[in-house]
Amino acid sequence: MQQHTGQHILSYAFAELFDGNTVGFHLSDNYTTIDLDITLTDEMTEQAEQLSNKIIYENKIVTAKDYTYEDALKLNLRKAPLDLETLRIINIEGYDECACGGTHVKYTGEIGIIKVTRTERYKNGTRVEFLCGKRALNDYTAKNKNLSELSSALTCKADMLQDNIEKIVNENKKLKKDIIGLSNELNEYRASELKNSTVFKDGTGYIFSKSNNDVKDLRFICSKITKEENYVAVLVSESDNECSLVIGQAKNLSFDIKGIFEQCRSMINGKGGGNSYMLQCSGNELKGRECLELAKKALL
Ligand SMILES: [Zn+2]
Repeated sequence: MQQHTGQHILSYAFAELFDGNTVGFHLSDNYTTIDLDITLTDEMTEQAEQLSNKIIYENKIVTAKDYTYEDALKLNLRKAPLDLETLRIINIEGYDECACGGTHVKYTGEIGIIKVTRTERYKNGTRVEFLCGKRALNDYTAKNKNLSELSSALTCKADMLQDNIEKIVNENKKLKKDIIGLSNELNEYRASELKNSTVFKDGTGYIFSKSNNDVKDLRFICSKITKEENYVAVLVSESDNECSLVIGQAKNLSFDIKGIFEQCRSMINGKGGGNSYMLQCSGNELKGRECLELAKKALL
């Protein structure tokens, strides 16, 4: 009854203030919506909410009375009634008159409060989600609890939450950027360190390495190494349950790294691929060392 009579009042407020007609209505277990044929701004919603609650505070009487269709047409009904022999008209004293067969509160004060919780564009108008009375109180309790928990998590007052969250989001963006920068720097360093262990043969430098870097780092390191002419790199890494492999060669070389890659890939049960200059895969068989041995035999 609270939700339903509340809907009469809110629909009245939108009609009275902005000529907005209620063209749809949905009452679910948790919330109620009305669909309006107008678009709303936040200010309009707030005004309609204010008027609706004013009608509640005035504790107006709600009455139901039967009229013939002809007599009903003489009333100032909010929306045209169905052409029925008898119409039940719900009157909210001094405000709304509307044909309805539902059950209503006796006084508007029983609704307690009407709170719009969300609006969204719907078809060519607006869907307005709202709560009345007990449901609004429950919602307030839940939201207040959320805010209190957030406040204590961020050790600030509720009115500072928005500022603090913005600050954290911005800091986080900066940190991510810093981490990418640092990790690139570190990988450049790793690449130059690996070059110290290059095996040279007939003018080509071969690098074989096993580490626990993730595959993204391996790729970065490999591309750094093979940017220089005459370099081939076979990099593997192992973690607890994953083995990764990256094989690359400089653009001036033409080893069959794809052939080596495919053999290694099936050995580690890997998934992945690439082109003739760089290939990568990860799998669940921890056979990094075997991959390096195979690559060494094939290349050297
Ligand atoms: Zn009704």
